[in-house]
Amino acid sequence: MRWTRYYIPTLKEAPADAEVASHKLLVRAGMIRKLTSGIYTWLPIGLRTLEKAKNIVRREMNAAGAIEVLMPTVQPGEIWQESGRWKKYGKELLRFKDRHERDYCLGPTHEEVSTALLRGEIKSYRQLPLNIYQIQTKFRDEVRPRFGLMRGREFLMKDAYSFDIDDDGANKSYAAMKDAYHRIFGSMGLNFRPVEADSGAIGGNFSHEFMVLAETGEDAIAACSNWPECSWAANVERAPIKPLAAPCSASCPPMEQVSTPGQHSIDDICAFLKTPAKRVIKTLLFLADGKPAAVLLRGDRELNEIKLAHLLNADEVVFASPDQVLAMTGAEPGFAGPVGLKGVDTIYADNELRENTDWIAGANKSDTHVQHLDLQRDVTLPIRWVDLRNAVAGDPCPCCGKPLEIKRGIEVGHIFKLGTKYSESMHAVFLDENGKERFMIMGCYGIGVSRVVAAAIEQNFDENGIKFPPQLAPFDVHILCLDPGDAAVSSACDEIEEFLAALGLETLYDDRDERPGVKFKDADLIGIPAQITVGGKSLAKGVIEVKDRRSGEKSALSAKTFKQEFGAWYQSVLDGWSRKSQL
Ligand code: ATP
Ligand code: MG
Repeated sequence: MRWTRYYIPTLKEAPADAEVASHKLLVRAGMIRKLTSGIYTWLPIGLRTLEKAKNIVRREMNAAGAIEVLMPTVQPGEIWQESGRWKKYGKELLRFKDRHERDYCLGPTHEEVSTALLRGEIKSYRQLPLNIYQIQTKFRDEVRPRFGLMRGREFLMKDAYSFDIDDDGANKSYAAMKDAYHRIFGSMGLNFRPVEADSGAIGGNFSHEFMVLAETGEDAIAACSNWPECSWAANVERAPIKPLAAPCSASCPPMEQVSTPGQHSIDDICAFLKTPAKRVIKTLLFLADGKPAAVLLRGDRELNEIKLAHLLNADEVVFASPDQVLAMTGAEPGFAGPVGLKGVDTIYADNELRENTDWIAGANKSDTHVQHLDLQRDVTLPIRWVDLRNAVAGDPCPCCGKPLEIKRGIEVGHIFKLGTKYSESMHAVFLDENGKERFMIMGCYGIGVSRVVAAAIEQNFDENGIKFPPQLAPFDVHILCLDPGDAAVSSACDEIEEFLAALGLETLYDDRDERPGVKFKDADLIGIPAQITVGGKSLAKGVIEVKDRRSGEKSALSAKTFKQEFGAWYQSVLDGWSRKSQL
């Protein structure tokens, strides 16, 4: 492809709203443009990369026996009413009415549509198993669209839905998808890890997320430091923390009140009483579907909202308002504590608080705390010991007990065994061998295809631009013609272009009438893995320069024997990439 006949609007500056490298570079490299918050146009070279990602996904899904379909984006409200998600999905589901005042939504995912489709088609066990997939635009009205393609509102997803006659079959379908995901992300040259995503398993269901490891990842992953002997890893959101075998039995001086005027936060208290946060109890008050709930955590720990939601099993959990805090504690916010708390009949305490006595906590009295608090001795309300905090580095691995590490990851795929959640609510049944009606056992499997493009860049860039893995690069080779006005140079470039085409390689040929500096900068920015530079001066010396974008290594090939030398050099570029992805 000739640059002058193409459209690659590169930019010197990144947009002001771009926080992460992939967002900045995708815009600067002329690959995407923002239309409005979380909604982007794919420009030509961006689209080429997206198509490469789609093709890898498609190839491996087909190889795994999944069958491609294309379902509608606009979905009727009825099927969401049936599954029960019309109420549950919240504001991410963009809803609207048609001219007849009927409810519709833009598909954020297609469990309802695929179940509605197959329940009308499948009669007998002989027609199953079936795994249908599509690569399609999704819409989710995210609260905080950000990081460009990473968390868009409109984005491209591959979503697959498997339907089996029994659990065994469903587990096989799940395993086949898990294998396919390994091949997909492996073929893309990504450094990734599958992690356990739901331990609060309902009815034997399970789930894995595929995480691309990158500093800028929105997800925190707890992974065993004993890798690869122990491969346990989970999203921190769901990583269970084992309680200590025996609670602490150390004796503790009698509890007493201390005056702490104006000391609201954990930081305030630590500074005021000169104590570390791990000696202080954080008391959080919530309303779960309107009912008060109290939670205790160590002052230096983070509440895990997912664990809390599982525990309280409520549709809505919100922080108690200052008025409610006053009603429960008799004090302004900042002085809540477990002793004498009103309005709840149980206190939920994180397991870790059993590991010590002698705590500091709010006294349920303004400007006052208690110290030498022994939860077992001093709290009259019943305490339920639960796992409520986020895992941190050093916590024991639930599998082997070795310390956990915390890494950052970008969730690029999610596979989920659904069981009969949708087939029961939407009545998707088949007749088994005995003519008996049974629910289909389902699984669903997503890949954020557009997010993958961003994730690949987050893992592969430098200060000059993108370093595309060869499998995702918009072109294989970038030819930089430094003197398009010079007949010898341009005919050498033309010849190279033809030669590479005959090898089946796709080339971007920069034939612009621009300074060499501009061309070098753009080539590094776009990040095609192999660069070939032809300039008047070097050509006169019989030299054609090549550069491996990943390593930055430049070599001089002889113009005369270029065609013989190129293959080995190009292979070394590809080999560098495969060594990298094996690390
Ligand atoms: P997240 O926790 O990141 O919001 P999710 O759990 O909502 O993801 P799924 O419903 O499992 O995601 O969707 C399947 C895949 O689609 C995800 O693994 C992710 O790669 C991608 N995806 C989800 N939301 C977005 C988004 N807003 N923008 C781009 N890709 C997304
Ligand atoms: Mg989401």
